[in-house]
Amino acid sequence: MHRFTEETSQLGEAILKYAADRLALDPVPLDAPRTESELESVAGGAISAQGMGGQAALRLFEDELALACLSTDHPRYLSFIPCAPTREAAMFDLVVGASSIYGGSWLEGAGAVYAENQALRWIANLAGLPESAGGAFVQGGTIGNLSALVAARATARARNNTRPFRVAATVGSHSSIQSACEVMDAELVQVPVDDDLRLTGDNLRKAIVEHGPETFFAVVATAGTTNLGIIDDLQSVADVCEEFGIWFHVDGAYGGAGLAAPSVRDKYAGVERADSFIVDPHKWLFAPFDCCALLYREPALARAAHTQHASYLDVLTEAPDWNPTDYSIGLTRRARGLPFWFSLVANGTDAYTEAIEHTLSVARFAADQIEQRPYLELVREPDLSVVVFRRTGWSSQDYQAWSDKLLEEQSAFVVPTSHNGETLARFAVVNPNTSTEDIAAILDSME
Ligand SMILES: *Cc1c(COP(=O)(O)O)cnc(C)c1O
Repeated sequence: MHRFTEETSQLGEAILKYAADRLALDPVPLDAPRTESELESVAGGAISAQGMGGQAALRLFEDELALACLSTDHPRYLSFIPCAPTREAAMFDLVVGASSIYGGSWLEGAGAVYAENQALRWIANLAGLPESAGGAFVQGGTIGNLSALVAARATARARNNTRPFRVAATVGSHSSIQSACEVMDAELVQVPVDDDLRLTGDNLRKAIVEHGPETFFAVVATAGTTNLGIIDDLQSVADVCEEFGIWFHVDGAYGGAGLAAPSVRDKYAGVERADSFIVDPHKWLFAPFDCCALLYREPALARAAHTQHASYLDVLTEAPDWNPTDYSIGLTRRARGLPFWFSLVANGTDAYTEAIEHTLSVARFAADQIEQRPYLELVREPDLSVVVFRRTGWSSQDYQAWSDKLLEEQSAFVVPTSHNGETLARFAVVNPNTSTEDIAAILDSME
C-alpha cells in the first residue's frame, strides 16, 4: 500500500473525478443525518482484515456516508456559521494532503510557512496591525482564543510578577471563551452590554475596578458575535485596556472577514490596537475546514508562552527561524493556511472584497424583507451578515417544526436560536452563492 501501482493510478483518477464532480455540483445536495443503526447496516463491517479495496471504499463513502453529511456549502445552509470554500481553496486542500508537509517548523516546511505568513500579513494589514505582527494558522477559533489567552496570561505574570486570573468579556462572547477559562482555571467576568448589546469602555472600566484591575490578564472583545453578529465598541475597549495595562484580545472568528468590506470597515475602528486577534478563514473567508488565523501584535510574547522545550526539539527551538508551532497550543501541524493562501493568490484580494460585500447585501435584503412582512420582526438591525428575527405568534415548537420540515424537504437548513430566553430564527449569510431568491423562499415558508 506504499507502492504506486496500476491500481493506485486508477484509484487516483477515481478520487480526483469524485472531488471534481463534487465541486462542479450546482447546487450541491443538502443531504441529512441518518441514525447510527442505519449507518451500521450499510457500513458496519467496513474495516476488515483483508480490506475491501480503494474503489469499493470510495463507493461506500460516496453512496452512503457522504449522503449522511450536511453540505455546509449549500446556498440554503444558513445555520451556525456555514463554510463555503472557493473552488480553488477546496481543490488545493487535496494538494496539501498529497504533499506530506510538516507545517510546524521553518526547517521542515519553509515554503509553506512563508506562504502562510504572506496570507497572515494580508489579514494583519486589513486589521491595521503593525509590521511586527505575526502568528500562525491553527485549527479553529477555539484553539486560537485559547492560545491567545495563554499568551496573555503568561505575559501578565512575567511583567508584574503577579498571578492574575480573570478575563473580561460579555454574554455575547463565544462559548469558546468560557471553555478557555475553564481549561486555564481562570474566571470569566461577564461585563454588562450597552443598549445596543455591545461591550463598551465605560461598562468594562466599572467591572475591572469592581473586581480589581490587578486580577485581570485579558479582555476579550468580539468583532462579530456568533449569535447576533454584533461588533463591540473596540475603540473604547482598547482605551480601557491601555489605561489598566491589560491584554486586548479581539475575537473576529466569524466577523473579522468584514475588515475586507469597505461598507462595514468603520465598525472595526480600534481593532488595530489589539494585542491578539483571530479570524477563521473557514467561516467568511472561503477556506475549507479547518483554519483559524491567529495574530499577535508582539509575537515574541506568544513564543515565550508556547514554545515547547525538549532535547529532541533543540535543533528547532534554538534556531532563529519562524516556527508556527511556537505561537499556539499544539506541536505537529498541517499547513492548514495553504488552501486559503492559494485561493488568495489565484483570485486576488478584490474578489474577496466583492464576495464579502455580496453576502452583506444579501443579509441587508433579508433584513428589509423581514421589516416588510407583517408576520416577521427584526430583533436587531444587522451589523454584519447574521440576521436574527421573530415569527410573531410562534412557540419554540413551531420554530423547530418549521426547521425540521425545511430539512426534510431538502429545501434549507435553518435551525432556530435563542436570545434572552426567546426562541428566534437566524440566518448566517457567508456563502456568496446564497441568493435573494433563496432568502425570499425561506421567508415565504414562514407565513
Ligand atoms: C466560531 C467562533 C469561534 C470558535 O471557532 P471554531 O473555529 O468553531 O473553534 C470563536 N469565536 C467566535 C466569535 C466564533 O464565531
